[in-house]
Amino acid sequence: MSQEIRSVVIAGGGTAGWMAASALARVLGPRLTITLVESSEIGIVGVGEATIPAIQQFNKLVKFNEDEFLKQTQGTFKLAIEFVNWWEKGQSYMHTFGPVGRDLAYIPFHHYWVYDQQTAGSLWDYSLNWFAATQARFSRVPKIPNTPLSGLTWAFHFDASLYAAYLSRLAQTMGVRRIDAKIAGVLQKPDGDVRALKLEDGRELEADFFIDCTGFRGVLIEQALKTGYEDWSHWLPCDRALAVPTERTSPLLPFTRSTALEAGWQWRIPLQHRTGNGHVYCSAHLSDEHARDQLLANLDSKPLADPRPIRFVTGRRKMLWNRNVVCMGLASGFLEPLESTSIHLIQVTIQRLILLFPHVGDHEARRQEFNRAASAEYEYIRDFIILHYYANNRVGEAFWDDCRNMKIPDSLAHKIELFRETAGIFCAADDLFQLSSWLQVMWGQGVRPRGTHPFVEAIAPHDRAGYLRDLRKLFAGAAQTLPGHAEFIAQNCAARPPGAA
Ligand SMILES: Cc1cc2nc3c(=O)[nH]c(=O)nc-3n(C[C@H](O)[C@H](O)[C@H](O)COP(=O)(O)OP(=O)(O)OC[C@H]3O[C@@H](n4cnc5c(N)ncnc54)[C@H](O)[C@@H]3O)c2cc1C
Repeated sequence: MSQEIRSVVIAGGGTAGWMAASALARVLGPRLTITLVESSEIGIVGVGEATIPAIQQFNKLVKFNEDEFLKQTQGTFKLAIEFVNWWEKGQSYMHTFGPVGRDLAYIPFHHYWVYDQQTAGSLWDYSLNWFAATQARFSRVPKIPNTPLSGLTWAFHFDASLYAAYLSRLAQTMGVRRIDAKIAGVLQKPDGDVRALKLEDGRELEADFFIDCTGFRGVLIEQALKTGYEDWSHWLPCDRALAVPTERTSPLLPFTRSTALEAGWQWRIPLQHRTGNGHVYCSAHLSDEHARDQLLANLDSKPLADPRPIRFVTGRRKMLWNRNVVCMGLASGFLEPLESTSIHLIQVTIQRLILLFPHVGDHEARRQEFNRAASAEYEYIRDFIILHYYANNRVGEAFWDDCRNMKIPDSLAHKIELFRETAGIFCAADDLFQLSSWLQVMWGQGVRPRGTHPFVEAIAPHDRAGYLRDLRKLFAGAAQTLPGHAEFIAQNCAARPPGAA
């Protein structure tokens, strides 16, 4: 394929389809005709309500006003994920966003903390996000005043259906044409490239380039192009979920909760108008009926609907760009939402597509680079998620015993060993999760180093103790000045009552 790309058809109008449509319209709008076809009869998956801080970059790209975006989507702020019962029953820890502590003299902060652990308090005493999350506080503070320390780092929870609808309105104001119809077939050229989508009403939708956002169906990338799927369920064996909304609870917590259960885990996502809940589980270890019972028994407010079942296979499409089709969202693969990474993967796939867009000419090199980067991205996140399952001490429980005894990817084994030796954490620049994330999850999951970097001793014990004490004081004090999360939302971004303009 080497002709100029002037028209793009996006198949599917869930979070992936409308994120792609609005971003492409914003950046490439003047050059491209963009059409999105979705089926209101099929609908969207309707989950995917927790994000990570990088989504702020996407919001900037599409020029969202953050308060307005939260009003439109019944959104709340997210400072962390709390992991309950993951390492052992009765234990919990947080993976907070933002830095933990502050590096000193070229040495990452945690070496000082590990060395002086007996007197230095908890690791999370050095995270402003942790203080704010556990006290249900929030404000937009990029820095702690009069210090060099970062303030809060935040992401969002939002209603998935409202998010797609909000993006849809935005994209259409930027010129994206929307068609509500079912795709009945994919028409290919003699060379195998896709020529058009055949709609159920007989229309043919031609384009130079196609983006497959049809969810688990993968109508173009798999049903037509037979791209293939790399199955990772030997590492991540959960394959089903049940999702159920419940009434809103108080206080409005600014974090997602993930509670490990008998053969999987339960999520809890607080929104302004309701709480999103779900149970991700492994069908080889737990029947659907038991999974439903466990979910309902662990809800902390009244259900608003019956639990809705979803099935999936963890893994990744072998290529995210095949011929003249790029896939994103659930059409590109599935990593369970333990670290809220799927919407992020959509966002980076869009960014990469914009950077490598095949405007004109032979694009083979761009396609290869796109696929290489996408594969690496998925694998970094996969390893991080496996860590939560593998490093558990829930001895005697069949599912957790299997997880602890599995053979993990070499890349993850290497990372764990580096940490065990001398608390070393080394992340590739393009790994989504960097030092403070790996540190919190390794520590929270009970991975312990045998020593630290010897350079720690270059700072006198008295100075080290003073440094750690001052940091703890600053973080705890700064949290005290923040308003409540619910109060902040009420003042700045409370959703309008249904029906209001
Ligand atoms: C249980 C679960 C929990 C999750 N939690 C999170 C989370 O907390 N955070 C996060 O980042 N991600 C999460 N995700 C992932 C997230 O839900 C998805 O990445 C996101 O919603 C994008 O979905 P999508 O747009 O790819 O697919 P969908 O929402 O399924 O949209 C598919 C679109 O394609 C259309 N379509 C399909 N077939 C046809 C056809 N033949 N003709 C016309 N149109 C068609 C549909 O109508 C729809 O518009 C979760 C996923 C699951 C399964």
